[in-house]
Amino acid sequence: MEYRKNQKVIVTIEDMGMNGEGIGRIDGYTLFVKDAVVGDVAEAVLTKVKKNYAYAKMLHILTPSKDRIEAPCDVHRQCGGCQIQAMSYRAQLAFKQRKVRNDLIRIGGIDAEQLDKIMEPIVGMPGDGLRYRNKAQYPVGRDKNGKPVAGFYAGRTHAIIPAKDCLLGPEENREIIRIVLSHMERYGVEPYDESAGTGLVRHIMIRKGFSSHQIMVCLVVTKGEIPEEKELVERLAGISGMKSIFLNVQPDPTNVILGRENILLWGSACIEDSIHMCDAEADFSHTRESLSYLISPLSFYQVNPVQTERMYSQALHYAGLHGSETVWDLYCGIGTISLFMARRAGCVMGVEIVEQAVTDARENAARNGIENASFLVGKAEEILPAYYADQTGGFSHPDVIVVDPPRKGCDEKCLETMVLMQPEKIVYVSCDPATLARDVNVLCRNGYVLKKVRAFDNFPQTVHVETVTLLCRENAES
Ligand code: SAH
Repeated sequence: MEYRKNQKVIVTIEDMGMNGEGIGRIDGYTLFVKDAVVGDVAEAVLTKVKKNYAYAKMLHILTPSKDRIEAPCDVHRQCGGCQIQAMSYRAQLAFKQRKVRNDLIRIGGIDAEQLDKIMEPIVGMPGDGLRYRNKAQYPVGRDKNGKPVAGFYAGRTHAIIPAKDCLLGPEENREIIRIVLSHMERYGVEPYDESAGTGLVRHIMIRKGFSSHQIMVCLVVTKGEIPEEKELVERLAGISGMKSIFLNVQPDPTNVILGRENILLWGSACIEDSIHMCDAEADFSHTRESLSYLISPLSFYQVNPVQTERMYSQALHYAGLHGSETVWDLYCGIGTISLFMARRAGCVMGVEIVEQAVTDARENAARNGIENASFLVGKAEEILPAYYADQTGGFSHPDVIVVDPPRKGCDEKCLETMVLMQPEKIVYVSCDPATLARDVNVLCRNGYVLKKVRAFDNFPQTVHVETVTLLCRENAES
């Protein structure tokens, strides 16, 4: 049968795609249906028709999936940030566990039966998986009537949907946004207009230390002053936990949210937060040890602190350190994992491409009295081979290599050198199961065996999933 645009069809959703879209079939024809949940029977209208597949929009749900719930946020469909909010949290976790498993089998070439023996259950968040983000960035613009609003970009566009409260962030954010918008309205402070390049206020960025309860507000502006600044600062400073108020100046016509210049208006230049080390074998209960980190407006810091400490504790557990090992931590950022490892290893060498992150990593090490961690600035795929080639130049054989690369995974040259270095263990922390599986495949064809896999849900309501894996050298004694 021929299908055409605007045609209405009835479809049963059988699967979910990479971006959380429902997938159904009619006469062997594949339909991608936005906002549909696996198990829904829905009436949909075709929006784009190709030879073997089509995109469709859901019109009505005829029979709702048993996994469907009332989405807690009323703008989730327009916003698009939470692709799977209409799915029960249990179903979200099952979807992510399945995704990691499927990728490791299909792309990684891991035997399914073998994988089922070594893959541990996904670690979900306690509760309903809301209000977990410690960082939010709200774009500021105007609504239809010209009033300043803050909210989210609609889908992939640059139109702002006003949202008074994002359920992924802390509740204080609501009051901060309200204060900033009412100040703008009262004194006629213009929101930034992207197309005209006019106006002042671009974004409201808010960060919160979940352990310390300290809050930082950063108003991103086109130039470094704000009318009636004293009054605004006074009102913001009245919020419980407020510790730091900044202007960040971003004059350039760009999508990059933050500019380089930060002007401290009130309070401290940093907030602090601590990450507890947990016992990965005892349901991630906190141990007595923790590490503290300083966070400035521009520093990178994991956005879900509750899951981050669990995930890093798992990585530490997989590394199985006894106190004398040499550990390399590639793609180390501000040294979050490196410092965990340093507490149990002989020495740790972190490698990171962003210079400022390395400066922060060194400062964080000093702050926690850690003297056995050093950091190198540069690309992992360049630093590693250079050190390996120069065996006299301070190179020591790594017992464990930890990697935590961005979504594109490890560079080939980096994997190649890791194999040459022959660490007993490789702990691979990944934010993309597909590239993880690709890299695991390379390592398994070069003398490593996949020993453990555990997925972590660091981004509930979204399709993203993190995974920690342990690979061991085939001929390693232990
Ligand atoms: N483990 C850290 C950071 C993980 S994010 C943490 O949890 O905080 C990945 C990091 O890899 C980023 O800090 C990014 O700047 C860095 N990076 C990206 N490409 C790199 C490369 N080729 N070599 C080294 N670091 C890289």
